[in-house]
Amino acid sequence: DDAMGVLGGGIEPDDVLAASPRNTRNTQSTQSTQIGGIGELRLLRRVGTVDPTSLDAYRKAGGYKALEQALKLGPEGIIREVTDAKLLGRGGAAFPTGRKWDAVRTQAEKTRYIICNADESEPGTFKDRVLLTGDPFAIVEAMTIGAYAAGCSRGYVYIRGEYPLGAERVQHAIDRARAAGLLGPKVMGHKFAFDIEVRRGAGAYICGEETAIFESIEGRRGEPRNKPPFPVQHGLFGKPTIVNNVETLANVLPIILEGGAAAAQIGTRDSAGTRLFCLSGHVTNPGVYEVPMGTTLGELMALAGGVAGSGTLQCALLGGAAGAFVRPDEMSLKLTHEDTRAAGVSLGSGVVVAFDDTVDMHDVILRIAKFFRDESCGQCVPCRVGTVRQEEALHRIVSGRTLGSVAQEVALLEEVGVAMRDASICGLGQTAYAAVESAIHRIGLFNG
Ligand code: SF4
Repeated sequence: DDAMGVLGGGIEPDDVLAASPRNTRNTQSTQSTQIGGIGELRLLRRVGTVDPTSLDAYRKAGGYKALEQALKLGPEGIIREVTDAKLLGRGGAAFPTGRKWDAVRTQAEKTRYIICNADESEPGTFKDRVLLTGDPFAIVEAMTIGAYAAGCSRGYVYIRGEYPLGAERVQHAIDRARAAGLLGPKVMGHKFAFDIEVRRGAGAYICGEETAIFESIEGRRGEPRNKPPFPVQHGLFGKPTIVNNVETLANVLPIILEGGAAAAQIGTRDSAGTRLFCLSGHVTNPGVYEVPMGTTLGELMALAGGVAGSGTLQCALLGGAAGAFVRPDEMSLKLTHEDTRAAGVSLGSGVVVAFDDTVDMHDVILRIAKFFRDESCGQCVPCRVGTVRQEEALHRIVSGRTLGSVAQEVALLEEVGVAMRDASICGLGQTAYAAVESAIHRIGLFNG
């Protein structure tokens, strides 16, 4: 989509799968990318090496061993391992997965659902696409484990409409799994019935918000619901529902196989495990990289071959359009929840878009503001009006037609931004000012 183009995305899944690590040609418009990482690849292990369309190949590569183990552990055992692993959601909100699963498991209502949120649409994010196209059986297997743990009988993969290959691969994996008795009335011969449907989104960013997914699957316009009630109590069709991001689910398999305590040894105390980062913009090798949490931003940039373009980094957008800008002097920032929080930024969905010193950041910030104005669902006033006012004020500053001084326009942006953050229903409105705020206060965009 448009936003991805400007922010340095536009990468096709098969480029990711086919690209060679030696393919280092880069500009913002390049289509070549790669996958890689530091240390053992846990989430990307099979991507590009195991045929994603073959159940046999998946099983030969260790597939369905985790489900076998999970069925032995039982629901409480599975949740214990996931909790011990300190797995936090990878979609941006970083909620503890074990706690979410347990909350659904302990509901009195017996009809329960699990949803894989594959509506990956944060500008600059393409990690879930790599997993969906490169290792679709893993997502099906992990959803089955989650369903067994929480007592869900039906699952949905809600995948963005712009991912036709991902949807095709996941559907194929579901069909193959069903034919092999890995989904259906008796999963692996156990007294456990579970099946999965694929639902495709229609291009709205807001449909990545978990309650908007419920509305969309139920056949209504994709608009977020007020919370509470929370999805674990009152989710899809009013029933207890787990919503997990694709990368979160991919983590479940190694956790079950090696045990939660061992998995928690990777990364830092408060940010366990590995994390997928999507590097794009002015880096030599744009792509998806898996690194242990605690890796520094500089190490991650080096992994992608360093700064491309002019070779001098102006800034990087961390966390996507809902994220924040970081400066070149912050390359020692450790990529953990605790370190980014302390620095006043966030990991978000694992986006790093690099900008060299030739980029006019005014264009970038205007594009981000336009993106939020376009994507606001319009349901609540602070976001519907605020995203418009924000874009207008930025336009006035950039074009030199301010109402009063630049400082007054900046103060207005702040006021609108705070109102959006504090009074919007969902994450879109709550984060629509984040990148603008960081452009003003962290990289001094309008300092003259
Ligand atoms: Fe819709 Fe924005 Fe309100 Fe979210 S914050 S519900 S996107 S209007």
